[in-house]
Amino acid sequence: MKNTSVLGVPISMINQRQLLKMIDDAVRSGQQMTIVAVNARKIVRAIHEPEMKRLLMGYDVFLADGLSVARAAGPMTERITGVDLMEEICRQSARTGAKLFFYGATEENNLAARKKLKTAYPGMRIAGHCNGYEDEDVVEKIRESGADVVFVAKGTPLQEKWIMKHGKSTGSSILMGVGGAFDVLGGKVKRAPGFIQNMGLEWLYRMAWEPKRFQQIPELLEFRRLVKKEKSR
Ligand code: UDP
Repeated sequence: MKNTSVLGVPISMINQRQLLKMIDDAVRSGQQMTIVAVNARKIVRAIHEPEMKRLLMGYDVFLADGLSVARAAGPMTERITGVDLMEEICRQSARTGAKLFFYGATEENNLAARKKLKTAYPGMRIAGHCNGYEDEDVVEKIRESGADVVFVAKGTPLQEKWIMKHGKSTGSSILMGVGGAFDVLGGKVKRAPGFIQNMGLEWLYRMAWEPKRFQQIPELLEFRRLVKKEKSR
C-alpha cells in the first residue's frame, strides 16, 4: 500500500473496498495492523508537536478521515471516515466471523452502539466491551476475549497513545482509533446530513451541536492556510 502525504503526515492511497479486504486478510493470517483516522486537526497538531508526529508515524494505515484532508491528498485518495469504516467492519464481521471488541465512550453510549449495530448486522460477533473511563484491566479483557478487531473510542490523542502503547499486548489483529464513533453509531450524537458532509461543512455542523468545538476553529483555518501555501509552491 502506497502513501501520499499532507503537510508531512502520511495518507494511505487506498479505497474502502481494498482496505476491508486487507483487514480480512490480516485477521485470517493473524498479522497486526494499526489504523489511524487523520483529520485536519491531527495534522496541525503534528506540525506543532513532535510527539504527536512521532505517534502518528507509528501507524500502518492512515485514513483520510476529513474531506479537507482527502482533497489535499489528491485524486488518488478516497475519503474514508472512521465511523463509516467501523460500520463496514461490523457488516463484514457478520460474513467472516471476525470478533469485535468495543473499547471506549461511556457505558451507556458503548451499549447503544453495540445494540444498534447488532440490530443492523445480526450476524456480527461481539467479543467484548469496556467503557473508556474504568479501564484498568482492559488489555487482559481484550486478550481473554480473543478479539480480532479492537475499536478504540477515547478521542485524540488518548486513543492513538493507547493503541501504540498496548496494541501489541492485546494479541488482536486490527486496532483502530474511532473517536466519537460509538456516540454517533449509537444514535447519541447526530451526524451531519450527507449534503453537509459533501460540502465539507461537517465540522461546522458538529460545532453547532457541541459549542466546545469552536475552539478548534484556529486549527482548521491554519490547516487551510498551510495547504494553500504548499499547493502554491
Ligand atoms: N472518551 C473516553 N474516555 C476518556 C475521554 C473520552 O472513552 O477518558 C470518549 C468520549 O466518551 C467520546 C470519545 O471518547 O465517546 C471522544 O469523542 P470525540 O468526538 O470528542 O473524539 P475526537 O474529536 O477526539 O475524535
